[in-house]
Amino acid sequence: MALTFDSFKLNKAFTPTLKKENYQTPTPIQEEVIPPILAGKDLLGIAKTGSGKTASYVLPILNRLQKKGATKNRHIEVLVLVPTRELAIQVGEVFGTFSRGLPERIKTFAVYGGVSINPQMIKMQNVNVLVATPGRLLDLVKSKAVHLSLVQILVLDEADKMLNLGFKKEMEQILDLLPNKKQNLLFSATLNKNIKQIKKLTLVDPVVVKIEEEDLSLDAIEQLYYSVSSEKKGPLLRSILNKYKGQQTLIFTSSTYQADNVFDKLRKNGFQPSVIHGKKSQGARQRVLNNFKNGDLEILIATDLIGRGIDIEKLPLVINYELPRSPKDYIHRIGRTGRAGNKGIAISLITPEDEHHFKVIQKKMKRTVTQLE
Ligand code: ADP
Ligand code: MG
Repeated sequence: MALTFDSFKLNKAFTPTLKKENYQTPTPIQEEVIPPILAGKDLLGIAKTGSGKTASYVLPILNRLQKKGATKNRHIEVLVLVPTRELAIQVGEVFGTFSRGLPERIKTFAVYGGVSINPQMIKMQNVNVLVATPGRLLDLVKSKAVHLSLVQILVLDEADKMLNLGFKKEMEQILDLLPNKKQNLLFSATLNKNIKQIKKLTLVDPVVVKIEEEDLSLDAIEQLYYSVSSEKKGPLLRSILNKYKGQQTLIFTSSTYQADNVFDKLRKNGFQPSVIHGKKSQGARQRVLNNFKNGDLEILIATDLIGRGIDIEKLPLVINYELPRSPKDYIHRIGRTGRAGNKGIAISLITPEDEHHFKVIQKKMKRTVTQLE
C-alpha cells in the first residue's frame, strides 16, 4: 500500500538499478524527502541510522543533474560533506551505483584524508559530485585541484558527528567558499543543539522532515469497536463523527476506491473531509497532510499509505472504516493516536465477515477490544 518509486517521476533509467538493489518501496524518509529535494527546496532530514537517508538524497540529486549544462573543469556541481573516510567511500558508492545507466554521464568521486593527496588531485578532472571529508577538501581547494564557487547543491550528512569530531572550523571555512545561492540539504540521525546551529547557518526556509522511531506502545489508546453490517457502516460512521464533532479524526479504509467512496458519501451528508491515497499527486497529498497536521482540516480519510511513520500531534480519534489485512498495519494505524503522552481513541467497524480476522488481530497485539452498542 505504500508509495512506489515510480510515483516520484524519477528518470526511468533508475528503474533497473532500483530493482537490482532490491529497493522495492521507498523508506519513510525517502517518501518525504525526495519530492522537496526534486523541487529544489532546502531540507533538514532527521531519521535514525539505517533508515535509508543516503538514497533519499542521492536519487533526487542525480535526477536534478540530468538537466545540467556543461561543467567547467575542476568545478564541481554537488558537494557532499561527511565526517569520516568510511562514510565518504560508502556515499560515493551509492552515487556510483545509481548513476549507472543514466543518459547523462555523471562522475562521482570520494576524497578523504589519511591517503596520499596526489592521485586525488589528478582524478579531480570533470567531477560532478564530490563526496569529501572537510580537512581533505580544504587541502584540495588550497592546491587548486577543485573549485567550489559553482556548487549548486550542498549536502551535509551526519553533520552532528562532524561537529563532534571537531570539524567546526573547517566546516565554516568551506561554507564561506560556497556560493550563497544553492540548494542545501542537511541530514542527521538526531536533532540536537549542534544540528539546530548548523541548520541556522546553512539552510534557507527549509522543509523539515523528522521520522520518529515508532513507539507503538498501545497503553494510551482506548480501543473500541462496533459490530455492523456493511450497509450500515455509512450511517454509523456519520453518527460517530457527529458524536466527536470538533475533534480531528483520521479514517482508514483499505483501498483507494473505498477511500474515495467514503469521501463522496461524507460530502453528500454535509461533512468537509479530505482524502489521501496513492492515486493523488504528491503535491495534493502533501497539502492535505499539512492541513491536517496544522489542524485546519478536521476529517481525513486515508489508506495505509499514511499508516506508518506519520506524526500528527495530538490526534484524538482514529476510525477503522475497514480492517487492514495485517495486524501490524492495524497497530500502525491506531498508533497515529495516543502519541507523545496524549490519550487517543481507536474505533473499528467490524462486519460479521471481519470477526474472525479481528480476533486474530487482538490475539497478535495481546489486547482485547471493547465492543460498543
Ligand atoms: P542511513 O544513512 O539512514 O543510516 P543508509 O542510507 O545507509 O541509512 O541505508 C541503510 C541500508 O538500507 C542500505 O544498505 C541501503 O542500501 C538500504 N536501503 C535504503 N533504502 C532502501 C529501500 N528503499 N529499499 C531497500 N533497501 C534500502
Ligand atoms: Mg547515513
